[in-house]
Amino acid sequence: MALLDIHVIGSPILRRETQIVQQMTSGLRQLITDMFDTMYAAKGIGLAAPQVGRIERIAVVDVEKNPIALINPVITIKSGKSRREEGCLSIPDIHYDVERAGKVTVNALDVDMKPITLEGSDLFGTCLQHEIDHLHGKLFLDHLSILKRRQAMREWEEEKDQYPELIRRLTPEVIARLQAEEDEANAEEAADRAADRR
Ligand code: ZN
Repeated sequence: MALLDIHVIGSPILRRETQIVQQMTSGLRQLITDMFDTMYAAKGIGLAAPQVGRIERIAVVDVEKNPIALINPVITIKSGKSRREEGCLSIPDIHYDVERAGKVTVNALDVDMKPITLEGSDLFGTCLQHEIDHLHGKLFLDHLSILKRRQAMREWEEEKDQYPELIRRLTPEVIARLQAEEDEANAEEAADRAADRR
């Protein structure tokens, strides 16, 4: 399992346009495998190539145990509105509500370069829009009001010293901490559910 370094906000690659993938190669298949491994280790539900320092138009997502690799994804239909809290593996510990389309249809290619069409709403719809934004140099903070964005960047100023060279390295210590946080959140959720039943 190869874990990739994650670029954090301020790294210029996060602002670059990606390049369309013309053909699948063993190198790109490996990249996709590594992106899934990295996303799972970081406890994310989506990861785009620029976040791991690459310029290919590739993203991976996994919402509710449904792993999907998206090659050259394009949003073809948008409808409605939804507002939900977002975070980003490239902007750790910063969370804000973002307004996006409520439902999207996405055309993409799968790892065999076969066309796929996905429909997403709720968390999955938000995730698709967030990752496709990454492939065009856009971050979720760009959707906030100027005031909120300034507030987010002030919060980030406090965080960013943890990421020398604007790289977030998934060391065994970091992975253990993220796992502990997830376990704690799951335990709280289970306790809440148990309380609801009473
Ligand atoms: Zn992100």
